[in-house]
Amino acid sequence: MEKRINVTRSLLPPFEEYIEEIRPMWESHWLTNMGEKHQKLERELSKYFQVPNVSLMSNGHMALELSLQALGLKPGGQVITTPFTFASTTHAIVRNNLEPVFCDISPADFTMDTAKLEELVTDKTVAILPVHVYGNICNVEEISRIAAKYGLKVIYDAAHAFGETYRGVGIGNFGDASMFSFHATKVFHTIEGGAVCYGDADFGLKLYRLKNFGIRNEEVVDGVGANAKMNEFQAAMGLCNLRHVEKEIEKRRQVAEYYRERLHGVDGLRLNLRQEGVTSNYAYFPIIVEKEKFGVSRDEVCQKLREHGVYARKYFYPLTNGFACYKGRFDAGMTPIAWKISQQVLTLPLYGELGEPELSQICSIILALGS
Ligand SMILES: *Cc1c(COP(=O)(O)O)cnc(C)c1O
Repeated sequence: MEKRINVTRSLLPPFEEYIEEIRPMWESHWLTNMGEKHQKLERELSKYFQVPNVSLMSNGHMALELSLQALGLKPGGQVITTPFTFASTTHAIVRNNLEPVFCDISPADFTMDTAKLEELVTDKTVAILPVHVYGNICNVEEISRIAAKYGLKVIYDAAHAFGETYRGVGIGNFGDASMFSFHATKVFHTIEGGAVCYGDADFGLKLYRLKNFGIRNEEVVDGVGANAKMNEFQAAMGLCNLRHVEKEIEKRRQVAEYYRERLHGVDGLRLNLRQEGVTSNYAYFPIIVEKEKFGVSRDEVCQKLREHGVYARKYFYPLTNGFACYKGRFDAGMTPIAWKISQQVLTLPLYGELGEPELSQICSIILALGS
């Protein structure tokens, strides 16, 4: 292929539409600090997500870090999570002086295996931080049940689950809070950005102050906050992209269907399952390459695609509990399913504008490698 194809390509609204969106800022000179665009995007996203409250943040990571802080968890407490995720999830726990405890994942949907969750609860456990991986929804019922039984907080990493619903309920309604990422590589983005969905007003107030240096009012600063404010240019990008995101998701669905059509039923290739009751956003198209059956390994498939200019990603690999910065601290052997999947998974290029000639070639390259 002549042109490089990346795993994703950021959605952009028509240029003129963005210019119109930011034009009023040349009148108001209000560029950040919870301005008009910020307020409007919060309102529109609450509607879109069907949640009571949305707090915008400078990025998804700060949304997660500050949510954990706003929950006021006991320092040193244990947070049960999974290692099959982006660096952000585990780092957010550690940077809050909390201790991650890794639960293995389900081989079927790559989210927390709730059959292994309860045995990890100790008297030090304070919260559960599960991840809706690739937009696959966690077992929210079982997580709620266990959290209620032991009095634990639940905060979801919903970075992959933009706009999804489970049995008609917006996915941001589960747990005490859900974090969304609006990074440029996500289905919906604000260039950099993120949000927290929550129900409790007191939590919301704490979160609001934490994203603005802990300032209560002009004369009182009573929290050790950070700066995680989304600026008006980011919010304007979000307002534009929100008008186009449904169309983008529909196009992504068609791309995913194309892959499914060509790659299903191949010995040694496993595709992501379709979850009952979930409206998918088609954020990712992971395949599991089982070398014993397919003939070649994930790494070989990835390499061969690269030789043709196709940059699929080993996402998620390595596991966060195997990161160099955590050397000697965690044992990746404790989560064998996650480890195995991390060796086998490859995320294929997926975005609305990915054309049929490219898709066809990507599939042909993969299929030609199979035994
Ligand atoms: C993207 C992502 C994040 C972090 O979001 P940013 O907006 O990039 O800070 C966290 N968790 C997961 C699973 C992600 O994919």
